[in-house]
Amino acid sequence: MTSDQVAEQRELEAARIRVDELRTQIRYHDHRYYTLSQPEIGDTQYDLLLRELRDLEARFPDLVTPDSPTQRVSGEATVEFTGVQHREPMLSLGNVFNADELAAWYARAVRRIEREDLRFVCEPKIDGLAISLVYEGGRFVQGATRGDGFRGEDITANLRTLRAIPLVLNAPPESLPRAFEVRGEVYMSKTEFERLNEERRLAGEQLYMNPRNTAAGSLRQLDPKITAARRLDLFIYQLGWVEGHRPVDAHSDAMSWLGGLGLPTNPLTQTFGSIEEVAGFCEGWVEQRDALEYGIDGVVIKIDDYNAQRELGVVGREPRWAIAWKFPAEQAVTRLRQIEVSVGRTGVLTPFAALEPVFVGGANVSLATLHNLDHIHELDIRAGDDVIVQRAGDVIPQVVAPVLSRREGREADLVPFEMPSTCPVCGGEVRRNENEAAYYCMNRRCPAQLSRGVEHFASRGAMDIEGFGEKMAFQLVDTLRPDSALHYIETLADIYSLPALRDELLTIPRIGEKKLDALFANIEGSKQQPLSRLLVAITIRHVGSETARALAGHFGTMSALREAALEDLQAVNDIGPIVAESVYDFVRDSENAALLDRLAIAGVRMDEGRVAARGGVLDGLSIVVTGSFAIRPRSELEELIKSLGGKVSGAVSKKTSFVVSGEGGGSKRDKAETLGVEIIDEQELFDRLRGFGWTDAPA
Ligand SMILES: [Zn+2]
Repeated sequence: MTSDQVAEQRELEAARIRVDELRTQIRYHDHRYYTLSQPEIGDTQYDLLLRELRDLEARFPDLVTPDSPTQRVSGEATVEFTGVQHREPMLSLGNVFNADELAAWYARAVRRIEREDLRFVCEPKIDGLAISLVYEGGRFVQGATRGDGFRGEDITANLRTLRAIPLVLNAPPESLPRAFEVRGEVYMSKTEFERLNEERRLAGEQLYMNPRNTAAGSLRQLDPKITAARRLDLFIYQLGWVEGHRPVDAHSDAMSWLGGLGLPTNPLTQTFGSIEEVAGFCEGWVEQRDALEYGIDGVVIKIDDYNAQRELGVVGREPRWAIAWKFPAEQAVTRLRQIEVSVGRTGVLTPFAALEPVFVGGANVSLATLHNLDHIHELDIRAGDDVIVQRAGDVIPQVVAPVLSRREGREADLVPFEMPSTCPVCGGEVRRNENEAAYYCMNRRCPAQLSRGVEHFASRGAMDIEGFGEKMAFQLVDTLRPDSALHYIETLADIYSLPALRDELLTIPRIGEKKLDALFANIEGSKQQPLSRLLVAITIRHVGSETARALAGHFGTMSALREAALEDLQAVNDIGPIVAESVYDFVRDSENAALLDRLAIAGVRMDEGRVAARGGVLDGLSIVVTGSFAIRPRSELEELIKSLGGKVSGAVSKKTSFVVSGEGGGSKRDKAETLGVEIIDEQELFDRLRGFGWTDAPA
């Protein structure tokens, strides 16, 4: 071998060792985070580990293995899912609704197998999607939806993106059955659901209905990247088929065994020796269900002993050894008085239901969402119908379906719903965009759009002007100034002219001095919001907070953004062609350009500036900076690292996280190379920081 080859070999060997280390660490942290809910490190440190692994694998492609944590999102979008025959059918469960029905179920089981020494395992019934996971030789090889119970769809690529699913089990393969199946329920947490919807709200997009449907939609994405971007969670609830010897004799033992292998099981699961205790447990959850981070619609009760399960067997498609205690319905029937239409800040028309008030899900409901026009037409919901209304947990009440049988004799009075041809607020023209389901009011001066826009501008995720709620926004948009044909607010920029009109404003009914001065102070304060907030505030279609941060991070200033060519916008990470075009068109529109100019003149900040990202993104890292740099002087780089929580060290050691090296890094660079410490350049440092949400105006 030549000396070059030897060096290469050595480098590969060092990389292999580090790659193994990183994978072990990442799997450990996945387990702490997703299965035990006891993270030891922050997201940013986790991302650094993953990043390092990804870089190493990019440099040494031979080291990539299918079970590497970097391969969670792999494979391209597919055109359709392939079918999977379940080796053992995924059964459904019978229901009981109260203690009497539960006792009857128990009595039938006891009679059948002539045993009374039964134990019961009880767990919350997650309102999610049942899935099947197959492990072979300790590795995750196939995941499928439940489908009709006999045949599901192969969604392996999507399930791989769930960090709760270990790609490799936490045990030597020879200690495991050659292959086995586990079953679980995939769900979306309430927090994640709200995060997604908040993002959509800010971007002016249609909101999702409930976590369950959103999780289902996310899981069945043909492109695994989309699944990966939604944080789905999972609880394993059952050991399925096992090739060879079953390692356990009871369901509770199976769950402990699976937990030990790193699979997430529900910590709220409890075992009881009497059916009365089971009933008590179920009744307790009816009250507490809303306190959980995920939706549940009942409790599943299983007889623990596998022998008893076998003896009891299956009737139809339901096992006799398990039953679901379902919570009381969160649906009610009421009369749909009218289908009304509201106008959003982008002009989009949204139909909603005005109902005869009804008590459902613990509250009086008189307004409910109808989702969208397609939903109304598909289900043929008409004003005057009796409809099923659902209100579950904190989710917005929704109209599920009309009760068609109750139309009898009234058919002639109930007409199918049609979108109005003019705006219900301003009377302006209504149009449906090509390739789009939504209808829009085309009048840019529409007071409904403007007041919604003002409300949004002032909202928390945007310019954060407290005291500028719905009422104030509408009042100022709707009130003419004295001796003038103009309203107090005609465009968003007028918000900053309000303080100059103090005396006039005080003549408006219900606007008090104190309230007004507090509002002015908040308006003044909002001028300091960074560019990313401003971009959210001005209602650019498809631009929510994440897109706004990406834009602000990339361009740094509003003028750079306004001058950007379409290609420049498309080159920004995470920004697709539709969003790029929307931004491009927005800043080139003459009215919008005038608005941006006026905001700048009013003193609204037009850059991103130095904003430390959430927490210290470099927390716990020890970094050496060496050499001279082109973008920023070394002292500034060191300051920056410190301000983000990193430790700047003068000497390279094994504990050094990485070295940032410029021109002439010299001896420190050599030392790092010898120790196998990662060396990156200045540009890479900034790229990583931006990857963590840090932003800075270009120097
Ligand atoms: Zn209108």
